[in-house]
Amino acid sequence: MADAHVNLTTNDAGGTPTCDSRLNLPPCAIVIFGASGDLTARKLFPALFSLHRSGHFPESFVILGCSRSELDDDQFRARMREAVERSGDFERQAWETMAPRLYYQQVSYEDAAGYAALAARLDDIDRVQGTRGNRLFYLAVPPTLYETIAACLGETGLAVEHGESFSRIVVEKPFGHDLRSAQALDAILHRSFGEPQVFRIDHYLAKETVQNILMFRFANAIFEPVWNRNHIDYISVIAAENLGVEHRAGYYDKAGVLRDMFQNHMMQLLALAAMDAPTCFHADRVRDEKVRLYRGLKPFEVADEFKDLVLGQYGPGMIDGKHVVAYRDEKGVDPRSLTPTFAMIRAFVDNWRWKGVPFFLTSGKRLARKASRIVVQFKDVPHSMLHEVAQERLEANQLVFGIYPDEVIHMSFMAKLPAPRLCLRPVVMHYGFDDAEPGPRLEAYEKVLLDCILGDHMLFWRQDGVEQTWGFLTPILEMCETCGELERHLHSYPAGSWGPERAVALHPGFARDVSMKTS
Ligand code: NDP
Repeated sequence: MADAHVNLTTNDAGGTPTCDSRLNLPPCAIVIFGASGDLTARKLFPALFSLHRSGHFPESFVILGCSRSELDDDQFRARMREAVERSGDFERQAWETMAPRLYYQQVSYEDAAGYAALAARLDDIDRVQGTRGNRLFYLAVPPTLYETIAACLGETGLAVEHGESFSRIVVEKPFGHDLRSAQALDAILHRSFGEPQVFRIDHYLAKETVQNILMFRFANAIFEPVWNRNHIDYISVIAAENLGVEHRAGYYDKAGVLRDMFQNHMMQLLALAAMDAPTCFHADRVRDEKVRLYRGLKPFEVADEFKDLVLGQYGPGMIDGKHVVAYRDEKGVDPRSLTPTFAMIRAFVDNWRWKGVPFFLTSGKRLARKASRIVVQFKDVPHSMLHEVAQERLEANQLVFGIYPDEVIHMSFMAKLPAPRLCLRPVVMHYGFDDAEPGPRLEAYEKVLLDCILGDHMLFWRQDGVEQTWGFLTPILEMCETCGELERHLHSYPAGSWGPERAVALHPGFARDVSMKTS
């Protein structure tokens, strides 16, 4: 496609639009289980520091790290300082006001006495720091510990909300590993915590461009009339990574791409692209519509086995000019592993709006580059008056929501080239978040942490959504895991490519969807 494009700017005829970003956060103690771990150091702590630095936190906030490692408050502070320095966002003055608000409590996750000590420590902190009994328990631990920690918090009375105070629990994906285990986890959480107290994180939802999909669709009147099977040929949801399994091989080799990416991020992106308009912008009304969409997913036809599914596993290859090893040669991976690192699912939604429209959901590791986007492919014009005179074949309109690397909305259409002969070419209208919006931006983890403290569930999974999506995926997982011939269906692809060739056979537009330039 030609890269001629029309840049869009905000219409500032009425003055530059501003967004009041002041928030009235309540005082709060954020208790992080797994405080010695990777997620805390790489994501949570830099996000918490950034929120503090930008003045979003109330004066009375505290972070209490908990894990088995033997650390005191000062050692914990030193580790967290290193984590912030590594993130490249360190600022001495902000650190000096934050450090006295960091504490550490050693706990053994299944030891009741440890939780009693934690409760006493939190009471002390309330008195000294004015956190008023508000607690946010963040489970940044391996999923095998979720149930133990939730149960112990319940047994110690830490899940009880007294008067105006709140007690919330934040759970990271994965929410179970299939439908049954997701239900079991939920039952344990609900023994101690009510649904309004539970926050199931999908940080993808907190990305600005992902949030903007609903605004684009439902704050503009012109798109909904064409957002259906009459005008849309297919929708492609892509989350490609060029990284391999890194330090998470133990988890990944058991989970695979379907559990790691599809049950959560891919299903959320699908819902945002395809759901109906909620009646109001309230967390439960928005989540109702997502669940209604999931209920409409056509059950996967296991009898037809791999008709609507391509699975792959990366072999050796080149990424950014460097040789990388095959998945099976990664440290911590079973050398005979049949875990898929790539999947493409062709899904259908059985309702009036979408009957017959394929949704191609594609995600994989060690692909050519990191790219996340939703491509809405419109149909060809019903009749072309131009095919005899125009030199260029007409390309159907395409709308792209770019999530990574470019946060953009990108619409292609055909236009006449200035020339004596009639020549057409595809051009694009382009809206870039970075170019157009100077306002303060929150990283995904900053946004989810703020929303947990504010008690806003809009960007979090509700259990019925979790169960619907597992209900859709579980037969696929069972088919893969019980199919004696999985090896035959697991297509190898070279690291650094766009996945197995069979993916292009299932979705011939895939190469165009991933390669279309959006910058
Ligand atoms: P880690 O493996 O780094 O574990 C976190 C901490 O939990 C460790 O520091 C350790 O602390 C404790 N721990 C680890 N294994 C055990 C064990 N077998 N028994 C008891 N305690 C253990 O996890 P991550 O930080 O990578 O991930 C935390 C959660 O976040 C997971 O659920 C993961 O799926 C999710 N997640 C992680 C992402 C990431 O980028 N890391 C991204 C998205 C989700 P100690 O020994 O001191 O108690």
